Amino acid sequence: MRFDVRKKPALFAIAAVVVALPVVAFMAGLLVGTDTQPQVAASATAAKPQAIPTRVREPEYPTPQVRTVEIENGDKLMEVLIKAGAERADAHKAIQSLEGVYDPRRDLRVGDKLQITLGPVDTTTPITGSEPVDYQLSSLQLPKTYDREVEVTRTPDAAFTAREVELPLITEFVRATGSIDSSLFVNGRDAGIPISVLTELIRIYSFDVDFQRDIWNGDAFEIMFERQRNEDDVVVNNGDIHYAKLTMRGSQLPLYRFETSKGTIDYFNEKGESVRKALMKTPLDGARLSSRFGKRKHPILGYTRLHAGVDFAAPTGTPIYAAGDGTVEVAHTNGGYGKYIRIRHNGTYSTAYAHLNGYARGVRQGKRVRQGQVIGYVGSTGRSTGPHLHYEIHRHGKQINPLGLKLPSGEKLGGERLTAFQALRESVYAHFAELAPAPLTAEGGKTLAD
Ligand SMILES: [Zn+2]
Repeated sequence: MRFDVRKKPALFAIAAVVVALPVVAFMAGLLVGTDTQPQVAASATAAKPQAIPTRVREPEYPTPQVRTVEIENGDKLMEVLIKAGAERADAHKAIQSLEGVYDPRRDLRVGDKLQITLGPVDTTTPITGSEPVDYQLSSLQLPKTYDREVEVTRTPDAAFTAREVELPLITEFVRATGSIDSSLFVNGRDAGIPISVLTELIRIYSFDVDFQRDIWNGDAFEIMFERQRNEDDVVVNNGDIHYAKLTMRGSQLPLYRFETSKGTIDYFNEKGESVRKALMKTPLDGARLSSRFGKRKHPILGYTRLHAGVDFAAPTGTPIYAAGDGTVEVAHTNGGYGKYIRIRHNGTYSTAYAHLNGYARGVRQGKRVRQGQVIGYVGSTGRSTGPHLHYEIHRHGKQINPLGLKLPSGEKLGGERLTAFQALRESVYAHFAELAPAPLTAEGGKTLAD
């Protein structure tokens, strides 16, 4: 591929005139000789000892050309490179070098911005203004994850080598608070909490909170989460929740992120007890639950002995989670229950899920499932008036009221770990307080808002 980088002829003309007189003899010799040094460069070199060097152009060498290409639907890496100016053979070698580092079929995504650098084949010959410069693929940068990219560079022997590099990111903490008059999801989103963070927030609270019934108008939330910006100050990742608190009809449920004794990360309440329980109170994507304050009429929302379960009104297709670890006992149509799943968790508890739209892949009788794993999707099969999940908890084979069920908490921190947790809790809370917006003050210094 060739790129014509000739400068405007007028500029060269001026330079040539300035140096013309003193170098005529030299030029004459040059032009008849076999030396192929370009004319302008020769003039400049010859002019250096003269009294007017400032007017003379230094020889200009070709510089690399950097292009940014945004991946569109259907783009293939090979074609993108060729279109950007790479030779087919180079593009092929560059892609081969990616093996084990980057898989274009998996890692190349629509919207990715690739930086393709074409370098001059000959970097030692100055630009002449008359000869076009030859360019070749010299390097390539491919975004891989929000914090990593892959760099492909040309080696002196015309091969390519690829390596993964970590991007410099700035981590900051974000505080958000609000009160609920619709749902935690809707009001949280309005308070500026990114959807991925809200989904995680609701998932963490799904052990303790029944998001269909426990949230009331006037309840409140606060949260502190992490996010990363890149060097261009663009938010590239919304990360972990470090602290959250739900206030539900006056009772407070604060949660803190902390390491379990097994070395995994979990959330602990004020007393240092893991929020993880054997069963979830909201065994579906709570972000998609219909608001209890909305106009929509719910199916039966409470619990009656006849109904023997609780209902979650959510759109068709909302993912349903296994409420706890266990084995699938039933996964087939079951009369008025429609498409139905029952999971045995231990010698005591089983849970059942009814009116499903469909089953998740691989969920069938005898299969082991993990807590939180998607087992099926909300639907309205069987005797049902609209899309909802009908959820039952069975204790020793008998249906019990899930609303009243009290399950023991997970790990309880003790000893040194509890002391460490308490220290973290205090520092997290201090950090959260620090992030509070400064009070608005009028000229007289009177506080207008807290
Ligand atoms: Zn029901």
